[in-house]
Amino acid sequence: MITQIKGLHHVTSMAGNAQANNAFFTKVLGLRRVKKTVNFDAPDVYHLYYGDAAGTPGSVMTYFPFPDMPRGRPGTGEVGTTVFAVPAGTLGFWQERLTQAAVANLAHDTSFGVNRLSFDGPDGDHFALVEDADDTRPGWTGNGVHGDVAIRGFHSASMRLRDDAASAELLKFMGYQEIARAGTVTRFAVPSGTARMIDIETLPDMPQAGQGAGSVHHIAFAVENRGKQLEVRQTLMETGYQVTPVIDRDYFWAIYFRTPGGVLFEIATNEPGFDRDEDTAHLGEALMLPTQHEHLRGQLETLLPPIID
Ligand code: ZN
Repeated sequence: MITQIKGLHHVTSMAGNAQANNAFFTKVLGLRRVKKTVNFDAPDVYHLYYGDAAGTPGSVMTYFPFPDMPRGRPGTGEVGTTVFAVPAGTLGFWQERLTQAAVANLAHDTSFGVNRLSFDGPDGDHFALVEDADDTRPGWTGNGVHGDVAIRGFHSASMRLRDDAASAELLKFMGYQEIARAGTVTRFAVPSGTARMIDIETLPDMPQAGQGAGSVHHIAFAVENRGKQLEVRQTLMETGYQVTPVIDRDYFWAIYFRTPGGVLFEIATNEPGFDRDEDTAHLGEALMLPTQHEHLRGQLETLLPPIID
Protein backbone atom coordinates (compact mmCIF):
# COMPACT_ATOMS: atom_id res chain seq x y z
CA MET A 1 0.00 0.00 0.00
CA ILE A 2 1.02 3.58 -0.65
CA THR A 3 1.57 5.77 2.43
CA GLN A 4 3.45 8.68 0.84
CA ILE A 5 0.48 10.72 -0.47
CA LYS A 6 -0.33 13.85 1.55
CA GLY A 7 -3.53 15.07 -0.09
CA LEU A 8 -4.04 17.14 -3.21
CA HIS A 9 -1.19 18.97 -4.93
CA HIS A 10 -3.01 20.76 -7.76
CA VAL A 11 -6.03 20.48 -10.05
CA THR A 12 -5.57 21.26 -13.75
CA SER A 13 -8.44 22.23 -16.03
CA MET A 14 -9.01 23.65 -19.49
CA ALA A 15 -10.39 27.07 -20.32
CA GLY A 16 -11.48 28.90 -23.44
CA ASN A 17 -10.18 32.39 -22.73
CA ALA A 18 -7.02 33.22 -20.79
CA GLN A 19 -8.08 36.76 -19.91
CA ALA A 20 -11.47 35.72 -18.49
CA ASN A 21 -9.85 32.84 -16.64
CA ASN A 22 -7.22 35.10 -15.09
CA ALA A 23 -9.79 37.72 -14.08
CA PHE A 24 -12.03 35.15 -12.41
CA PHE A 25 -9.35 33.50 -10.30
CA THR A 26 -7.47 36.64 -9.30
CA LYS A 27 -10.13 39.36 -9.15
CA VAL A 28 -13.22 37.35 -8.14
CA LEU A 29 -11.79 34.48 -6.07
CA GLY A 30 -8.80 36.54 -4.92
CA LEU A 31 -6.16 33.89 -5.56
CA ARG A 32 -2.62 34.81 -6.51
CA ARG A 33 -1.38 33.97 -9.97
CA VAL A 34 1.82 32.21 -8.94
CA LYS A 35 3.05 31.27 -12.40
CA LYS A 36 2.50 32.34 -15.98
CA THR A 37 4.11 29.75 -18.19
CA VAL A 38 3.16 27.53 -21.13
CA ASN A 39 1.93 23.97 -21.48
CA PHE A 40 5.29 22.19 -21.65
CA ASP A 41 3.84 19.65 -24.14
CA ALA A 42 2.14 22.30 -26.34
CA PRO A 43 3.98 25.60 -25.74
CA ASP A 44 1.62 27.70 -27.84
CA VAL A 45 -0.89 27.41 -24.96
CA TYR A 46 -0.50 29.10 -21.59
CA HIS A 47 -0.28 27.21 -18.34
CA LEU A 48 -1.61 29.51 -15.61
CA TYR A 49 -1.31 28.64 -11.92
CA TYR A 50 -3.39 30.26 -9.15
CA GLY A 51 -2.99 29.63 -5.43
CA ASP A 52 -1.90 31.07 -2.11
CA ALA A 53 1.10 33.39 -1.64
CA ALA A 54 3.68 30.73 -2.52
CA GLY A 55 1.54 28.35 -4.57
CA THR A 56 1.69 25.87 -1.71
CA PRO A 57 0.72 22.32 -2.75
CA GLY A 58 -2.93 21.82 -1.91
CA SER A 59 -3.84 25.37 -2.98
CA VAL A 60 -3.02 25.40 -6.69
CA MET A 61 -5.67 25.51 -9.41
CA THR A 62 -4.08 25.50 -12.85
CA TYR A 63 -5.40 26.07 -16.38
CA PHE A 64 -4.59 25.43 -20.00
CA PRO A 65 -6.55 28.15 -21.82
CA PHE A 66 -7.09 27.05 -25.42
CA PRO A 67 -8.51 30.05 -27.31
CA ASP A 68 -12.11 29.40 -28.42
CA MET A 69 -12.15 25.82 -27.14
CA PRO A 70 -15.78 24.63 -26.98
CA ARG A 71 -17.17 23.82 -23.57
CA GLY A 72 -16.86 20.30 -22.24
CA ARG A 73 -19.92 18.12 -21.71
CA PRO A 74 -20.17 17.24 -18.01
CA GLY A 75 -20.44 13.52 -17.33
CA THR A 76 -18.79 10.60 -15.63
CA GLY A 77 -15.11 9.74 -15.69
CA GLU A 78 -14.01 13.19 -14.56
CA VAL A 79 -13.64 15.48 -11.60
CA GLY A 80 -17.02 17.17 -11.18
CA THR A 81 -16.52 19.72 -8.42
CA THR A 82 -13.36 21.30 -7.07
CA VAL A 83 -13.93 22.56 -3.53
CA PHE A 84 -12.02 25.34 -1.75
CA ALA A 85 -11.96 25.92 2.02
CA VAL A 86 -12.90 29.29 3.49
CA PRO A 87 -13.02 30.37 7.16
CA ALA A 88 -16.13 29.66 9.26
CA GLY A 89 -18.86 32.28 8.94
CA THR A 90 -17.66 33.70 5.60
CA LEU A 91 -20.08 32.16 3.11
CA GLY A 92 -22.30 35.25 3.40
CA PHE A 93 -19.38 37.43 2.29
CA TRP A 94 -18.68 35.08 -0.61
CA GLN A 95 -22.31 34.88 -1.65
CA GLU A 96 -22.44 38.66 -1.90
CA ARG A 97 -19.09 38.88 -3.71
CA LEU A 98 -19.99 36.17 -6.22
CA THR A 99 -23.44 37.67 -6.78
CA GLN A 100 -21.89 41.06 -7.53
CA ALA A 101 -19.52 39.39 -10.00
CA ALA A 102 -22.58 37.80 -11.71
CA VAL A 103 -21.13 34.31 -11.24
CA ALA A 104 -23.34 31.59 -12.74
CA ASN A 105 -25.33 28.92 -10.89
CA LEU A 106 -24.71 30.23 -7.41
CA ALA A 107 -26.42 27.90 -4.93
CA HIS A 108 -26.35 27.29 -1.20
CA ASP A 109 -26.64 23.83 0.33
CA THR A 110 -25.02 21.56 2.87
CA SER A 111 -22.58 18.75 2.18
CA PHE A 112 -21.69 16.25 4.90
CA GLY A 113 -23.29 18.63 7.40
CA VAL A 114 -21.22 21.64 6.34
CA ASN A 115 -22.43 24.84 4.63
CA ARG A 116 -21.49 24.96 0.99
CA LEU A 117 -21.75 27.59 -1.73
CA SER A 118 -21.47 26.18 -5.22
CA PHE A 119 -20.98 28.11 -8.46
CA ASP A 120 -19.59 27.88 -11.95
CA GLY A 121 -16.40 29.31 -13.35
CA PRO A 122 -16.26 31.23 -16.66
CA ASP A 123 -16.31 27.99 -18.70
CA GLY A 124 -19.02 26.26 -16.69
CA ASP A 125 -16.43 24.55 -14.49
CA HIS A 126 -17.99 23.59 -11.21
CA PHE A 127 -16.66 24.87 -7.89
CA ALA A 128 -17.77 25.10 -4.30
CA LEU A 129 -16.64 26.89 -1.16
CA VAL A 130 -17.09 25.22 2.21
CA GLU A 131 -16.52 26.66 5.65
CA ASP A 132 -13.77 24.92 7.57
CA ALA A 133 -12.96 26.36 10.99
CA ASP A 134 -10.04 23.95 11.42
CA ASP A 135 -8.21 25.09 8.30
CA THR A 136 -5.47 27.42 9.54
CA ARG A 137 -3.68 27.93 6.23
CA PRO A 138 -3.20 31.64 5.48
CA GLY A 139 -4.97 32.83 2.35
CA TRP A 140 -3.54 35.24 -0.22
CA THR A 141 -4.61 38.83 0.47
CA GLY A 142 -2.90 40.62 -2.42
CA ASN A 143 -6.05 40.93 -4.54
CA GLY A 144 -8.18 42.80 -2.01
CA VAL A 145 -9.78 39.81 -0.27
CA HIS A 146 -8.91 40.16 3.40
CA GLY A 147 -7.18 37.45 5.40
CA ASP A 148 -10.22 36.74 7.57
CA VAL A 149 -12.28 35.63 4.54
CA ALA A 150 -9.69 34.53 1.95
CA ILE A 151 -9.70 31.09 0.35
CA ARG A 152 -7.31 28.78 2.26
CA GLY A 153 -6.69 26.28 -0.51
CA PHE A 154 -8.43 23.11 -1.61
CA HIS A 155 -10.86 21.42 0.73
CA SER A 156 -11.57 18.43 -1.50
CA ALA A 157 -12.42 17.36 -5.02
CA SER A 158 -15.25 15.18 -6.22
CA MET A 159 -15.03 12.59 -8.98
CA ARG A 160 -18.13 11.50 -10.93
CA LEU A 161 -18.05 7.81 -11.80
CA ARG A 162 -20.45 5.30 -13.30
CA ASP A 163 -18.99 2.49 -11.22
CA ASP A 164 -17.12 3.47 -8.08
CA ALA A 165 -15.73 0.08 -7.03
CA ALA A 166 -12.38 0.05 -8.83
CA SER A 167 -11.66 3.71 -8.06
CA ALA A 168 -12.55 3.23 -4.39
CA GLU A 169 -10.08 0.32 -4.32
CA LEU A 170 -7.45 2.50 -5.96
CA LEU A 171 -7.94 5.35 -3.48
CA LYS A 172 -7.62 2.90 -0.59
CA PHE A 173 -4.46 1.53 -2.18
CA MET A 174 -3.20 5.14 -2.37
CA GLY A 175 -3.64 5.50 1.40
CA TYR A 176 -7.17 6.95 1.50
CA GLN A 177 -9.77 5.64 3.93
CA GLU A 178 -13.53 5.83 3.57
CA ILE A 179 -14.69 8.29 6.22
CA ALA A 180 -18.33 9.08 5.36
CA ARG A 181 -21.24 8.42 3.01
CA ALA A 182 -24.13 10.71 2.05
CA GLY A 183 -26.58 9.71 -0.67
CA THR A 184 -24.61 8.83 -3.80
CA VAL A 185 -21.37 10.33 -2.44
CA THR A 186 -18.61 8.48 -0.58
CA ARG A 187 -15.90 10.53 1.10
CA PHE A 188 -12.30 9.38 1.42
CA ALA A 189 -9.38 10.99 3.25
CA VAL A 190 -5.68 10.44 3.85
CA PRO A 191 -4.69 10.48 7.54
CA SER A 192 -2.39 13.50 7.30
CA GLY A 193 -1.63 16.42 5.02
CA THR A 194 -3.67 19.30 3.61
CA ALA A 195 -6.61 19.08 1.19
CA ARG A 196 -6.96 15.51 2.44
CA MET A 197 -10.39 14.59 1.08
CA ILE A 198 -11.68 13.08 -2.16
CA ASP A 199 -15.34 12.37 -2.82
CA ILE A 200 -16.66 9.78 -5.24
CA GLU A 201 -20.10 10.45 -6.64
CA THR A 202 -21.61 7.30 -8.13
CA LEU A 203 -23.84 8.02 -11.13
CA PRO A 204 -24.49 4.74 -12.98
CA ASP A 205 -26.86 6.32 -15.52
CA MET A 206 -24.86 9.42 -16.43
CA PRO A 207 -23.05 9.33 -19.81
CA GLN A 208 -19.29 9.67 -20.10
CA ALA A 209 -17.99 13.25 -20.01
CA GLY A 210 -16.75 14.98 -23.15
CA GLN A 211 -13.66 17.01 -22.35
CA GLY A 212 -13.52 20.67 -23.31
CA ALA A 213 -13.28 24.12 -21.76
CA GLY A 214 -14.34 23.91 -18.13
CA SER A 215 -13.35 20.25 -17.80
CA VAL A 216 -10.76 19.11 -15.29
CA HIS A 217 -7.86 17.68 -17.27
CA HIS A 218 -6.21 15.89 -14.33
CA ILE A 219 -5.93 15.92 -10.59
CA ALA A 220 -2.56 15.78 -8.85
CA PHE A 221 -1.71 14.26 -5.48
CA ALA A 222 1.19 15.49 -3.37
CA VAL A 223 4.29 13.63 -2.27
CA GLU A 224 7.06 15.28 -0.32
CA ASN A 225 9.98 14.65 -2.65
CA ARG A 226 11.38 12.71 -5.60
CA GLY A 227 12.40 9.73 -3.49
CA LYS A 228 8.84 9.26 -2.26
CA GLN A 229 7.55 9.72 -5.81
CA LEU A 230 9.76 6.90 -7.09
CA GLU A 231 8.47 4.66 -4.31
CA VAL A 232 4.86 5.44 -5.29
CA ARG A 233 5.64 4.85 -8.99
CA GLN A 234 7.21 1.48 -8.23
CA THR A 235 4.28 0.38 -6.07
CA LEU A 236 1.70 1.44 -8.69
CA MET A 237 3.58 -0.36 -11.46
CA GLU A 238 3.91 -3.54 -9.39
CA THR A 239 0.12 -3.46 -9.08
CA GLY A 240 -0.31 -3.24 -12.85
CA TYR A 241 -0.83 0.49 -13.42
CA GLN A 242 0.76 1.99 -16.51
CA VAL A 243 2.64 4.97 -15.10
CA THR A 244 4.63 7.51 -17.12
CA PRO A 245 8.31 8.07 -16.42
CA VAL A 246 9.11 10.97 -14.09
CA ILE A 247 8.64 14.24 -16.00
CA ASP A 248 10.31 17.50 -14.97
CA ARG A 249 7.65 20.24 -14.80
CA ASP A 250 10.19 22.80 -13.51
CA TYR A 251 8.14 23.58 -10.36
CA PHE A 252 7.55 19.92 -9.43
CA TRP A 253 8.23 16.47 -10.85
CA ALA A 254 5.24 14.59 -12.20
CA ILE A 255 4.12 11.05 -13.00
CA TYR A 256 0.72 10.29 -14.53
CA PHE A 257 -1.58 7.30 -14.78
CA ARG A 258 -5.18 6.75 -15.91
CA THR A 259 -7.55 5.42 -13.25
CA PRO A 260 -10.10 2.64 -13.87
CA GLY A 261 -12.92 5.23 -13.83
CA GLY A 262 -11.24 7.27 -16.59
CA VAL A 263 -9.84 10.13 -14.49
CA LEU A 264 -6.22 11.10 -15.13
CA PHE A 265 -4.20 11.09 -11.89
CA GLU A 266 -0.84 12.74 -11.36
CA ILE A 267 1.56 12.33 -8.45
CA ALA A 268 3.53 15.57 -8.03
CA THR A 269 6.40 16.46 -5.71
CA ASN A 270 6.26 19.33 -3.23
CA GLU A 271 9.77 20.25 -4.37
CA PRO A 272 11.18 22.52 -5.79
CA GLY A 273 8.19 24.97 -5.81
CA PHE A 274 7.19 28.11 -7.71
CA ASP A 275 9.98 30.34 -6.36
CA ARG A 276 12.49 28.23 -8.26
CA ASP A 277 12.84 30.79 -11.04
CA GLU A 278 11.15 33.94 -9.71
CA ASP A 279 11.45 36.09 -6.64
CA THR A 280 8.58 35.38 -4.20
CA ALA A 281 7.53 39.04 -4.36
CA HIS A 282 7.00 38.82 -8.13
CA LEU A 283 5.64 35.31 -8.64
CA GLY A 284 3.48 34.92 -11.71
CA GLU A 285 4.20 38.32 -13.23
CA ALA A 286 6.55 37.49 -16.11
CA LEU A 287 6.14 34.83 -18.78
CA MET A 288 8.40 32.02 -17.59
CA LEU A 289 9.47 29.40 -20.12
CA PRO A 290 11.14 26.07 -19.49
CA THR A 291 14.68 25.79 -20.87
CA GLN A 292 13.55 23.56 -23.75
CA HIS A 293 11.14 26.25 -25.03
CA GLU A 294 13.18 29.40 -24.24
CA HIS A 295 14.23 29.63 -27.91
CA LEU A 296 10.53 30.11 -28.80
CA ARG A 297 10.12 33.17 -26.55
CA GLY A 298 9.86 35.77 -29.33
CA GLN A 299 7.29 33.71 -31.22
CA LEU A 300 5.26 32.85 -28.10
CA GLU A 301 5.14 36.42 -26.83
CA THR A 302 3.50 37.42 -30.11
CA LEU A 303 1.24 34.40 -30.36
CA LEU A 304 -0.09 34.06 -26.79
CA PRO A 305 -3.06 36.35 -26.09
CA PRO A 306 -2.21 39.22 -23.75
CA ILE A 307 -3.40 38.95 -20.15
CA ILE A 308 -4.18 42.30 -18.57
CA ASP A 309 -4.12 42.17 -14.78
ZN1 ZN B 1 -0.52 18.52 -13.26
